[in-house]
Formats: sequence, structure tokens, C-alpha cells
Amino acid sequence: MKKETLKYFEQILKDRINEISSNIDMRNISLKELNNSNLKDQSDIVSANLQGQLDFLIIQKHGLELQDIMSSLQKIKNETYGICEMCDDEIDIERLKIKPHAKYCIKCRELHEKSKNRGEK
Ligand SMILES: [Zn+2]
Repeated sequence: MKKETLKYFEQILKDRINEISSNIDMRNISLKELNNSNLKDQSDIVSANLQGQLDFLIIQKHGLELQDIMSSLQKIKNETYGICEMCDDEIDIERLKIKPHAKYCIKCRELHEKSKNRGEK
């Protein structure tokens, strides 16, 4: 991959990290506020718990995405960015534009999804 192309994706990945970090910060604040507020009503407690769990899931999901983004940035440094982790083929650039932290090419992604779904059922 060309240096300019790598720089382009590096910038996208870094922007995404900032975006996710501020998103997580905001949610952490709202979680703290929930914990500090005095909930008297049973229904208040239930909805607060639901909201808290939802926030937790979103934070967890963002955390996983952050890990992928960090490892993508590492790959840019090692000049292995844009190479499928399964088959070592280059990942289509159009796919990287949609998902810059993609680990697999489309073919391997589909195989991965299929085997995952089979495992779950
Ligand atoms: Zn592949």
C-alpha cells in the first residue's frame, strides 16, 4: 500500500479513536450520575438498570472496536496494514474505506461469519 494511502487511513483511525473516547467519556459520566441520583421508585430503578446495562454493552462494544483500531495502527507502523489476517491477501481498499479496522478480506469475513453462526446454533 502507498505511503499516502496509509497516512489517509491512519488519520481516519485516529479520528475514530477520538470519537469513541469522547463517546465513552460521556457515557461514563451519565452512568456516574445515575449511581449518584436518589432513585426511590421501583420503576426508576428498573429503567436505570436497563439503561446502565445498555451503556455497559455499548462501552464494551466500543472497547473491542478500539482494540481493533489500535492493532490496525500498529499494522500501519509495521507496514502490514490492509493485509487479511487469514489468507494474507490484500483487503479491498473500498472495504477499508467503509471499515478501516477490518482484519479480513471479504471472502474470509464471510467464511468467518458462517462458521461463527454455525457455532451459535
Ligand atoms: Zn482473506
